[in-house]
Amino acid sequence: MALPHDLPVVDHHCHLSPTGDGIEAARRFEKAGGTHLFLATQQYGEHPPSSVGEYEGQFEATDAIARGVEQATGVRVYRVVAPYPVDLITLAPRLGLAEARRVIEGALELAGRWVREGRAVALGEVGRPHFAMEQALRDASEELFRRALEVATDVGCPAVVHCEDLDAAGYQAMADLASRVGFPVHRLVKHYARSWIPPEERAGIVPSFLASRDLSARVLLDNGPWLWETDYLDDPKRPGAVLDLATIPRRAAQVAASGSAALEALRIPFETAIRSVYGFTPAVDDRRRPSGRP
Ligand SMILES: [Zn+2]
Repeated sequence: MALPHDLPVVDHHCHLSPTGDGIEAARRFEKAGGTHLFLATQQYGEHPPSSVGEYEGQFEATDAIARGVEQATGVRVYRVVAPYPVDLITLAPRLGLAEARRVIEGALELAGRWVREGRAVALGEVGRPHFAMEQALRDASEELFRRALEVATDVGCPAVVHCEDLDAAGYQAMADLASRVGFPVHRLVKHYARSWIPPEERAGIVPSFLASRDLSARVLLDNGPWLWETDYLDDPKRPGAVLDLATIPRRAAQVAASGSAALEALRIPFETAIRSVYGFTPAVDDRRRPSGRP
């Protein structure tokens, strides 16, 4: 059984770089049957931005790559922008902690404006560094994470979280944090989820599972909501460090080949979970149907 032509095939988290494969990677994704990408911004230069203006330049670079992909392929690209949580660690020694916080807070507000103007669909990645650090930085990270959730609450968008791998207690703690600032937990996405946790232990947070072979086999039996991602890094210096952008459409095609019940499971990460988190369903435009589809 082939992939039905009305089924969107979505990678929920990737990065593309102007100095990497960029549009070529998107072509591989499309050729394998992919239709929609959630493209997260990233640091493109040697250092993270050190002013709100430089963050704006970074977001514009992400937007330019997204437009390039949409012009060269039939793939639709959703932009996700925010200052990367680890940036604080590099910025604090350079600017001083107070100024680093001021810059990042300004960049969070800028990201909120992008959502309000319809240029981005979510704030991401927000959260905290996934490694241990000194107390002052940890406290500042937590405050900026809360601020990010406040901005996302104000503009009414999802938040895509970068943090350590979470167990049931970790999911609960994060849900509590969101509730304290009034952020709707069902719009909180744990990006780069590497371990399967039963739905009832996720405290309402939506995991975006890494599309590795073993984890995918498990999560395809999960009733959701859950999302699926490669976290493709598009870094030519680290080939093979992450899953290729063609991974999700290839896995989806294998699933579809195994029968109609399995095929229904794909509607969770490609349609229903996206609708419950983002409030829209990716639609496959017939005129721009990727090659290789019936
Ligand atoms: Zn990422």
